This record gives sequence, structure tokens and C-alpha cells, in this order.
Amino acid sequence: MLKGIPVSPGYAIAKILKYQDYHFDQTKTVIEFPEQEILRYDKAINDSVSQLKSLKTANMHTLDEETLHIFDAHIAIATDPELIDRVKQLIRAEQCGLSYALSKTVNTYVQLFDQMSDEYLKSRASDLLDVKNRILKNALHIPVIELDQINEPVILCVYELSATQIAQIDQQYVLGCISEIGGKTSHGAIIARQIGLPAIVGIPNLMTEIKDGEYVIIDAFEGHVIKDFDQATERIYQDKIFTDEKKKANLKRLSGQPTILKDNVEIKLLANIGSSKDLKYLTDHKADGVGLFRTELMYLDRTSLPSESELFEDYKAVLSFFKEKPVTIRTLDIGGDKPLSYINFKPEYNPALGNRAIRLLFTKPELFKTQIRALLRASIFGNLQVMFPMVSTLEELFYIKETIEQCIADLANNNIPFKRFKIGIMIEIPAAAIIADQFAKHVDFFSIGTNDLIQYTFAADRTNPDVEYLYQPFHPVIARLIHGVVEAANQEKIPVSVCGEMAGHPIGAKLLIGLGIKTLSMTPISLLPIKSELMQSSYHDLHEQAKKALSASSEAEIVSYFI
Ligand code: PEP
Ligand code: MG
Repeated sequence: MLKGIPVSPGYAIAKILKYQDYHFDQTKTVIEFPEQEILRYDKAINDSVSQLKSLKTANMHTLDEETLHIFDAHIAIATDPELIDRVKQLIRAEQCGLSYALSKTVNTYVQLFDQMSDEYLKSRASDLLDVKNRILKNALHIPVIELDQINEPVILCVYELSATQIAQIDQQYVLGCISEIGGKTSHGAIIARQIGLPAIVGIPNLMTEIKDGEYVIIDAFEGHVIKDFDQATERIYQDKIFTDEKKKANLKRLSGQPTILKDNVEIKLLANIGSSKDLKYLTDHKADGVGLFRTELMYLDRTSLPSESELFEDYKAVLSFFKEKPVTIRTLDIGGDKPLSYINFKPEYNPALGNRAIRLLFTKPELFKTQIRALLRASIFGNLQVMFPMVSTLEELFYIKETIEQCIADLANNNIPFKRFKIGIMIEIPAAAIIADQFAKHVDFFSIGTNDLIQYTFAADRTNPDVEYLYQPFHPVIARLIHGVVEAANQEKIPVSVCGEMAGHPIGAKLLIGLGIKTLSMTPISLLPIKSELMQSSYHDLHEQAKKALSASSEAEIVSYFI
């Protein structure tokens, strides 16, 4: 059995289709006629752009706007003037072949992206490599195999799951995807999750361990690829597939129903989103509002800052969709390991501990003022709460409030309509959790960001697999910290919710409720499974287990209380 990181849940049984990208010879060759090589490059760019345009048109009715945008992004990379210029200069200066010049130039960019610890930016590197391969195949007249030509059931096996690959496949035939490298937040993984395609990434030595055409079972709940299985195992998985389908159909019936525990305690389940485009995932999986709107996503995939009116329109669309239901928008969490290419950031030794999120308010106040103005204006259209990430001291909070007042005064002076919003902070740094009692006197709500709270409590990078053993969401130390925050919030009668990944995990959700959290926010796909799990539990039981959890001595002990 091979093991990897499950990024999109589901099972599949089928034969492997190994899709290997052609490996180009990147050694430097001296050529006689550089100008001819440049013409070849120009032609290959044109061919690639035409292919990408036809792919986009062919998929117009089957893919959503966001996914279709990937084809535009690839066209933009292929036709990027700076990239083209550098490649041509290299061909002329060193009299070298296109394969070498293009690979060398692209690799410089790829290395830059790779050094970033942010998974989202890392995944931009795979888009660059995708485009490079397409151009070189066209230049060398190697047929570009289109994945949409597959016409029998397969599990696609690739070195890296790229966004364009996923966008091209027909789910009638491709039943699942597995890849050797990749992470939970790479573009391919995100799209696989969105379209509900079972996927596992990061399987060590996959391309050498697996043969083309061999039958495998993939369990993308556990991250297992089962080879050489017997009939009994196959039957077990056929049953699992059947039960899973039935479960999904049953879960749909819960959509729109309130989440009431067995002893009548109501829990609110909210969604985590990245922009108004994500609203489409909330038609089936209805949410009681938005608990986390990660606004930085709109800043990352572009080349200049979004304007106040672009931000306003996006926030307005989400607020109008949810009407009176709460929408919690988090201000920008960029900087450190999430730099913007179009803003000058100083390099840092410890980006996760550096100038990111709200800390940027002090060095780049205009960035925040634009966002706060857009939020105040959009606030008219719904029930807006705004929260601030990475707050660790009261002084930071006071400064934030002062900045909001300046923006209000500015809008009022210019007769621009606006409405005040509720102000909250994310509790995601241990310092904030420990003095939550003091923060609670100055904010309208708390939202606990367990992803960072766990990383900073254990001093274990949340993206580094080597220290993953320390990243323990169900450890008593985390339960104690959260318990303290809940007590502080209750003391001041302010609401407290959780928006980290822990809220969308069955054990995490139950532990959190037992600790007194009544609002959980999660990725839309988790809403119905968590609702179903909770409706079979009673608050009384969860609370009793959570009390025991506070004096437990290991994560395993707590897990044993909740399974
Ligand atoms: C968190 O830290 O738990 C959180 C929700 O924010 P992010 O994952 O965006 O850092
Ligand atoms: Mg965080």
C-alpha cells in the first residue's frame, strides 16, 4: 500500500493511467542561427495560445468561471513580455537552444516560488512549468496529449497534479487522481475538492512504485493507494463506495435544516470562503452565514492591488447573498510567507513570525484603510462583522479601532454612505488566548483560528511534514487554551466561534462544542457531514467528555473520548 495526503475525499477502483510529462533535454547546445530559434519560439507560443483558447471554449459549459480562468492565466504566462524578452535575450547572448533558454528562465521563477513557504504561491510554480512544457512540446512537434480524450475508467497518476490537468478531465472516465508531490492547498487539490474528484497527493516515489495499467483502489479519505488487492478487499471497497454514495444522498436532506443536538442545543454552522465566487458551493450545502472570509485570496492572484470599488462589490455580493445572516470578513492576512509580488516586502528570516497580517497596519496603513472603507460601505448590505488576524496585544487592537474611526470620519465628511460593523479579533496567537479576558472587554466577538494557534503553541510550522507529529489539534494544551478563551468570552457575554480546520473535523467539532463553542465555521464541503455527526450527539455528553479532556495528558487520550 502507498500512502499520501488525502486532499479530496472519496473512493475509486480502476486501472492506472500514468500520465508522464515528456522530459526535455535541458542541456545547453550551441546553435548556429539564434533568430531562427526565436521564430520557432514565437510560433510555439502562438500554437500554445490557440490550444489553450480552444480548451477554454470546449469547457465553457462544464467548468465554472474560476476554473476557466486558469486557461487565461496560462495564456498570460505564455505571452508574458518579460518572460519572452528574457528567453530571447538568452538565446541571442549565449547562442543556445530554446529548450535550455526557456527552461533556465522558467526555473529561476520556479525557484523563487518554491522558496516561499505559502502553499498557494508554491502552486503558481506548477502553472509556470505546465506552460513551459506546452510551449516546448509545440516547438519540438511532440503531440500534446489532451486528457479530455480519455474514454475508459481510469485513475490518473501524475507527478504533480496541475490545475489544467484537472480542468481537462471528464469525470465520467477519470474516477480519481493521485500524485507524487503536492500539498493540500495546491491549485490542483483545490479544484479536485471543488469538483468532488477523489484525490491523494504527496505519495513518495509514486511514479516508480506504480505501473501503467495496474488496477488499484484509492481511499482518498485515508490517503491510501492499495495495490495487489484480493477479491475480499475489492468487495469491502465496493461496499464503502455504495455506502458513501448513499450517505451523500442522505446528507442532502439535511441541507437548510437547523443543527439541533439530541438535547435540543442549537449549533450554528458557518462557511469559510475566499470570495463571492465561492457562493456557488453554498447552494447545496446551506450555511448559517460566513464565519471566515479570507480576503487575501483576492489580492494574491493578480498583478496590482484591487481597488476600493472592486473590494466593495465583492463584499456586497456576499453580504447581499446572506441577507440578515452574519458574514464575518477577515482583513488581509498577507506579508511574511504570503508576500504580494507587486508590493515591496523586506525579506525575513522567520516569515511566520514576521511582518504579516495586522502587523502590516503599522508599515502599510493605506492597504488597510482601502479595505476598511470598502467594508464600511458594503456593511449597508447585510449583517457584517469584521475581524482582525494575528492580533497579540491590546495596543494593536486600540490602533485598529483608531484607524477604523479615521475611515468613518473620512466617509462621513465626504457624504459617502456607510454602516458601522461589529469588531472582533482572531484568537490565533497564544499571547492573545492567554489574555483573552482583557481583549473580551474591547471587542464584539472572538473567532479562534486553530490552524495558527496550534502552530504557534507547539512552535511547529503547519506546512512542514517533518514536524507534523507536533501539530496536534486534539492535544490537552489546545483544549485548555480554548477553554480559557470561552470562559473569557462568556464572562463578558461576547460570542466566540472557531474557524480553523479543527471545526470541520468530526472529533474537533465535538470537542469544541463540549468546550462551550456554539458556532463553527468550515469549508462548505464539510457542512453536511459535520451537521449529521453533531445531530447524533448530545451537548451534555460532549461537555462531560470535554471536561475530562482538560485533564488528559495526550492527544490520543482525548481522541479516545470522542470516537
Ligand atoms: C487559522 O489560523 O486557524 C485560520 C483560520 O486562518 P488561516 O488558516 O487563514 O491562517
Ligand atoms: Mg491564521
